[in-house]
Amino acid sequence: MLENSSAPVTSLYVHVPFCAQKCEYCAFYSEASSGELIGRYVAALVRELEIVAHDLKPQTVFFGGGTPSILNLRQWETILRAMEKFNLLGAEEFTIESNPATVSADKCKLLRDFGVNRISMGVQSLDEKLLDRLGRVHSREMVFKSFDILRASGFDNVNLDLMFAIPGQTMEIWRATLNEAMAMQSEHLSSYEVIYEDDTPLFDQLQAGEFSVDENLACEMYEELISSATKGGFQQYEIANFARNKSAIRNPQSAIPSLACKHNVNYWRGGSYYGLGPSATGYVRGVRTKNWSNTQLYCDQLEKGKRAIESSEELTPLRRAGEIAAFGLRMNAGWPFAEFQRATNFDLRNEWDSEMNQMAERGWALRDQEKFQLTHQGLRFADAAAEMFLR
Ligand code: SF4
Repeated sequence: MLENSSAPVTSLYVHVPFCAQKCEYCAFYSEASSGELIGRYVAALVRELEIVAHDLKPQTVFFGGGTPSILNLRQWETILRAMEKFNLLGAEEFTIESNPATVSADKCKLLRDFGVNRISMGVQSLDEKLLDRLGRVHSREMVFKSFDILRASGFDNVNLDLMFAIPGQTMEIWRATLNEAMAMQSEHLSSYEVIYEDDTPLFDQLQAGEFSVDENLACEMYEELISSATKGGFQQYEIANFARNKSAIRNPQSAIPSLACKHNVNYWRGGSYYGLGPSATGYVRGVRTKNWSNTQLYCDQLEKGKRAIESSEELTPLRRAGEIAAFGLRMNAGWPFAEFQRATNFDLRNEWDSEMNQMAERGWALRDQEKFQLTHQGLRFADAAAEMFLR
């Protein structure tokens, strides 16, 4: 929605930049943890929460990383008590990303007591060899054990993250992982193809010719994902995201299932959000900010009482509208024209008429009186489609 300039922001992202060890493919900002730095980070984060609290009334909160679940009980209690003090609890959806190796019953209880109601678990694979290949610290047994702990603690909204097109992953292994994941009956599933980012060990191995990329197999694996998730009772609502639809009044026409990640839907619909923690980006009333991707520097700044913002940029309304158009197209619902106009004050039919026609001619998109949306084929080219909307 086009933001009311005085209403508080309703979405909060917090980056926790620590992991037990660095995975082979990972380009996120995170580092192997050390006790002292984590302590400093927690104190700095509390300070940053305090600075923005007057302008926040979170309906969605998402702690991502890194590995948020690596924080110990005492550190979580410090953060959650601070959020309570600053009136930041009570979100409709409060998600914490967890690594299966760091889930425990007492931590789950604490999180539940403070209103955390959704866990996103980084499973990635259920094949032991591939978990090793990726440099993950957890085993497949830990996935099942942690999932049982989450359920026993009352978490009834759990996401499983899976990866496909991992070097060495055959279709047979992928099917087996999908079957086992479906049997877990989670509420949400996210699944991404491995990407080879500069400066990661996996990228270096690819460059060195240790393995090659099979694009056809990757496409077949994506099709298998969609078919298996659909048979498993999920509804796809974004290129890589699937959720169950458990609304009391179930609307089969709704393109966004009731258990979709509300926090991410807000991103894709162009809503404002605060981004706290090292490397986090935020977007508030037309201004995009990015925090320093350096935990020491982040702590130094907040210890002086300042936010640790490395850069901030005010986007022109048309440029921002182009970005919002591009994000929203990732969703199966595409963009209802009226909704886009409410969100941006621009009419897609005026600003991007020829681009939409070109995409429809290529078979990438459908356009009718009310909306514009990518087709199944178009979703595979969503990045190229998005480029066409950027100004
Ligand atoms: S656990 Fe996640 S954030 Fe941490 S290194 Fe692995 S992929 Fe990166």
